[in-house]
Amino acid sequence: MAEAKTGRIIKVAGPVVVAEGMLGARMYDVVRVGKENLIGEIVELHDDRASIQVYEDTVGIGPGEEVVNTGAPLSVELGPGLISSIYDGIQRPLEALVQQQGSFIKRGSDIPGLKRETKWAFTPMMDNGAEVKAGDIVGQVQESSLVLHKIMVPAGVSGKLDGLREGEFSVEDVIGTVTAADGRKTELKMMQKWPVRRPRLSRQRLNPNTILITGQRVVDAFFPIAKGGTACVPGPFGTGKTVVQHQLAKWVDADVVVYVGCGERGNEMTDVLMEFPELRDPHSGEPLMRRVVLIANTSDMPVAAREASVYTGITIAEYYRDMGYSVALMADSTSRWAEAMREISTRLEEMPAEEGYPAYLGARIASFYERAGRVVCAGSPDREGALSIIGAVSPPGGDLSDSVVQATLHVVKVFWSLQARLAQQRHFPAIDWLTSYSFYKQHLADAFEDKAQGKAFAEMIQQAMNLLEQESQLVEIVRLVGAESIGAKERLTLETSKSIREDFLHQNAFHNVDTYSPIEKQYAMIALILHFHRQGLEAIDQGIETADLFKLPVREEIARAKYLPNEEIEQIIAIQDKINEQVKGLSPVTA
Ligand code: ADP
Repeated sequence: MAEAKTGRIIKVAGPVVVAEGMLGARMYDVVRVGKENLIGEIVELHDDRASIQVYEDTVGIGPGEEVVNTGAPLSVELGPGLISSIYDGIQRPLEALVQQQGSFIKRGSDIPGLKRETKWAFTPMMDNGAEVKAGDIVGQVQESSLVLHKIMVPAGVSGKLDGLREGEFSVEDVIGTVTAADGRKTELKMMQKWPVRRPRLSRQRLNPNTILITGQRVVDAFFPIAKGGTACVPGPFGTGKTVVQHQLAKWVDADVVVYVGCGERGNEMTDVLMEFPELRDPHSGEPLMRRVVLIANTSDMPVAAREASVYTGITIAEYYRDMGYSVALMADSTSRWAEAMREISTRLEEMPAEEGYPAYLGARIASFYERAGRVVCAGSPDREGALSIIGAVSPPGGDLSDSVVQATLHVVKVFWSLQARLAQQRHFPAIDWLTSYSFYKQHLADAFEDKAQGKAFAEMIQQAMNLLEQESQLVEIVRLVGAESIGAKERLTLETSKSIREDFLHQNAFHNVDTYSPIEKQYAMIALILHFHRQGLEAIDQGIETADLFKLPVREEIARAKYLPNEEIEQIIAIQDKINEQVKGLSPVTA
C-alpha cells in the first residue's frame, strides 16, 4: 500500500483540524495544514482520519484544503546556540520571527531553532580512531561565557571515530565521521534532533539526595528541593509567584536554567521578556541570559503551542543534563498548560473527567515531572547530571482542591504553599510554614561540608518549626481566653516565633544583601534566634520578667542580622555574646 502523504481538511474546530485521506500517518506526526502551511501534530487517528492540534491560529482555514504529513514527530534542534535564546512553544526564535515579519508573526513560518550562520569554535576531546557510542563527549564549544557546551554522539550511533578536527563550524557542518562495525558511516554534526515527547536516555537513575541551594531561607532551610527533585508552587494572584520564580532563576545553584513561560497573560510574559535580559547572574556578574533558555507562550498565542512549550522546554533541559550539568526548569504556569489540554480534549469530543479536564490529565502531569531526576549520563566520560523541575500552578481563586493542583501534588516532592493572607501582611516570600512540605528534608544535614554542623542545622530547623506550630496553637488560646491565660514561657514562645517569622523567614528579594543568604549565614541566623530563646527560658526560671527580656536592645540586632554582609558571618555569631551580657544585666523582680 502506498503511503498517502497528503490529506484534506474536513472540519476545523478552533485549534483542532480533522483531515481525511491520511492513511499511513502515525500518532504525533507533524503535519503542515492548509494554504498557510500551519504547523500541527496528529493527536488522534481513526482509519484514514486524523485529528490534528494546530500550533497556530486556524482562522481562515477551511474544509478542502490540503494537509501534508512530514512523517516526523515534533522535535527540537539541540546544539550550540540554545543558550540565551528566546523561543516560542515549538522552538521558533521569537526575535528572528519578529525581525522577519514585524511584531505580527506570520503563520506557517519556518525558522529553525538553531542559527545556521553562526560559527562556533569547536575543540575535540577525543582522538580519531577511538571507538565511540551514544552519549560520548567528542568535543566542546564555549557557548556563552557561563556555559561550556559538550558535543555528544547522538543516540543510535556507534563505531570508530574519524576526521574529527578543531575548527570553526556551523551547527550543520560535518565535524567528524563515525563508522559502524558493518561499515555504515554517520556524519557527526554539532546539532542533533530529538522528539520532544520522548524522554532522553540516560544510563541510570539516582536518588536525588543533594540539596539544591537557592539562597532563599524559607526554601533552603524549611522546604528544600533536591538536585533532580520536583517542586510545585501554587500561586494565587499577587502572592509573589513571579518574584519567587525570578529569585530561583537568579540564585539557584544550577549551571543552566530553562524558563518556560506558559500561557500567562500577555503582559506578564512581556515582563519576563523585558526583565530576564536585564537580570545579572549574581555569582559571575554576567548577564543571566548567558545560562538561560527562555520559552515564551503568552495567552494570546494559540493553546496548542502551550501544550508543546512544556515539552520543548524539558527536552532542552534534558540535553544540558546529559552534558553532566545541574539544570533547573521552571514552568510558569502549568495551569495554563492543563487548560490547553482541556481545550484540545473538548474539541476532540473526548469524555471529560473532573472540572472538564481530560481523564489523562494526571498521567500527563506525572510523566512531565518524571522527566526530572539525578542520573548517570549515557556515554563517557562518566558524569552525573541533574534536572530539577519547579512548576508554578495558578488555581482559580487560589483553590487547592483544583484538579491541576491535586494531580501535581500527587507527583511532586516539595510543596511551597503561597498564601494571600501572608502577602497581604507583606510577609514575603508568602510561603506558609504550616502547610508547605518537602520530602527532601532528610538531606538537609548533608548541605554542609561539616557533617556535625549539618546535623545541628537540621535539628535547629526542626526546633524552629516546633515553635511555629506551638505559636499557632497559642494564638488560638489567646484569642479564646485572653493573653493573661498564658504563662511567661508561652509568651517567650510567641516572641521567638515572631522572630523566626520576621527575622528569618521573611526575606526581601529587593534588598541587595538580603536577596541571597548563603547556607552558612542561614545557620548563624537561626542559631542566634534560638540562642535568645534558650537564654530567655533560663532568665524566666530565675524570675526575670518577659517584658524586660523583650525590650533588650539586642533584639534589634537580631532583627538586623540578615542585612549584615554575607561574608561576615562572625558578626552574627558575635551577637550571641551580647545576648548573654544583656540578659545577665537584668535583675529578677522582687516581691
Ligand atoms: P504574582 O506573580 O503571584 O501575581 P508577584 O510576584 O508579581 O505576584 O508579586 C507581587 C508583589 O509582591 C511584588 O510586586 C512585590 O512588591 C511583592 N513581593 C513578592 N515577593 C517579594 C519578596 N520576596 N520580597 C519583597 N517583595 C515581594
